[in-house]
Amino acid sequence: MRYISTRGEAPALGFEDVLLTGLATDGGLYVPESLPHFSVEEIRSWRGLPYAELAYKVMYPFVEDAIPADDFREMLGETYSVFSHQAVAPLVQLDTNEWVMELFRGPTLAFKDFALQLLGRLLDYVLEKRKQHVVIMGATSGDTGSAAIEGCRRCEHVDIFILHPYQRVSEVQRRQMTTVQGDNIHNIAVKGNFDDCQRMVKESFGNQSFLGGKTQLAAVNSINWARIMAQIVYYFQASLALGGPDRSMAFSVPTGNFGDIFAGYLAKKMGLPISQLVIATNRNDILHRFMSGNKYEQHQLEHTLSPSMDIMVSSNFERLLFDLHGRDGAAVKDLLERAAKGPVSIEDYRWKHARKLFDSDAVDDKATCDTIRDIYEQNEYLLDPHTAIGVRAARNCRRDSAVPMITLGTAHPAKFPDAISESGLVVKPQLPAHMADLFEREERYTVLDNSVSEVQGFIAKHWKNA
Ligand SMILES: *Cc1c(COP(=O)(O)O)cnc(C)c1O
Repeated sequence: MRYISTRGEAPALGFEDVLLTGLATDGGLYVPESLPHFSVEEIRSWRGLPYAELAYKVMYPFVEDAIPADDFREMLGETYSVFSHQAVAPLVQLDTNEWVMELFRGPTLAFKDFALQLLGRLLDYVLEKRKQHVVIMGATSGDTGSAAIEGCRRCEHVDIFILHPYQRVSEVQRRQMTTVQGDNIHNIAVKGNFDDCQRMVKESFGNQSFLGGKTQLAAVNSINWARIMAQIVYYFQASLALGGPDRSMAFSVPTGNFGDIFAGYLAKKMGLPISQLVIATNRNDILHRFMSGNKYEQHQLEHTLSPSMDIMVSSNFERLLFDLHGRDGAAVKDLLERAAKGPVSIEDYRWKHARKLFDSDAVDDKATCDTIRDIYEQNEYLLDPHTAIGVRAARNCRRDSAVPMITLGTAHPAKFPDAISESGLVVKPQLPAHMADLFEREERYTVLDNSVSEVQGFIAKHWKNA
């Protein structure tokens, strides 16, 4: 399998190089040159497979040039054994033909574990083979940092440095990062805000000379293709559990950077019968505004009760735009260069095609809280605020009540206790047993000034073979 850039100028790469690369050299994102396609008979034959086996069937075509089948199977077996539910991604019924798929049974209680637990293992495997080392550098305002740290804690060929804004992340989120033990794990609290952290990461990727040529930076944000790939699997899992592929399914996906829902779009293209995909956003609704009015326009960032979806632009949306433009990289490049300067639209027939593929809704904090409260009162089931947005959008956009509607449950409610109390509920979401002592664990992090040279100096000094 070859991978090509959405902006059409960077060289095509194989899986190993795509794994180790962030953005393509032309500023685009890598996508597979062609997708595997599975027949209904083949998908049906997977019914009843354990999650890791299903993951093997769905993902192997993407990695087969780089990893022997047995090694990949073993890696997947390890990856999904760390989840705290035997079904890995269990379904919970909310109402007649309406479900939540719980994607928060991994070590850090958000769906990002599905991809980052695998990504850490993939990186170490490929780096071992190549006798190489990488430094992962990332900025986080929430779930990505902890999931990346957990995913890389056992990697021998990876050091990981995660920047977070000092005193500006929630205590649960900070402790999930800073209490993980390992010589290769480094948490940096920057005396600045999230944008300062992100700017430092960007600048460091642009000029890596501070590493003295002895190692290189790697990215773990959702522009990394391997993350999208791992998220395709659970769409198949949910469908097979509810009678697919002999009936079609609808999915509602709480969306920020468009990674998770793009994986659903790919599952459909790979042959899974999906009749509806709902883009569910919070007040940061650039995608909903585009879907309803064909105008792609950045607004000011709003802080909401669903912080993991607080974004101004959706980086993975570029991957969809590439398909909407008949995979014409030059057209995508031109569009996104214009989009950086002001509002843009696409040709009407392309936009109508997008509307056929997706429905969308934007849900504000009040409706989020109402949904958390309603579902708790009806079912004694607690939703986290991101999942609540998905459930609300699913109900608002539903086309056919005979089709099972599955909302992706992206985080455990105990990660976001503020939204639960804002909903007026007195119930306190409990952390699962494996994290019950989170507040007693020892924390390790270094506070640094808001200065890129100080941060780079720290990294240069502290990576393993420095
Ligand atoms: C990251 C995240 C999202 C958004 O996912 P994207 O792939 O960026 O669309 C939604 N909910 C939670 C809890 C998250 O951590």
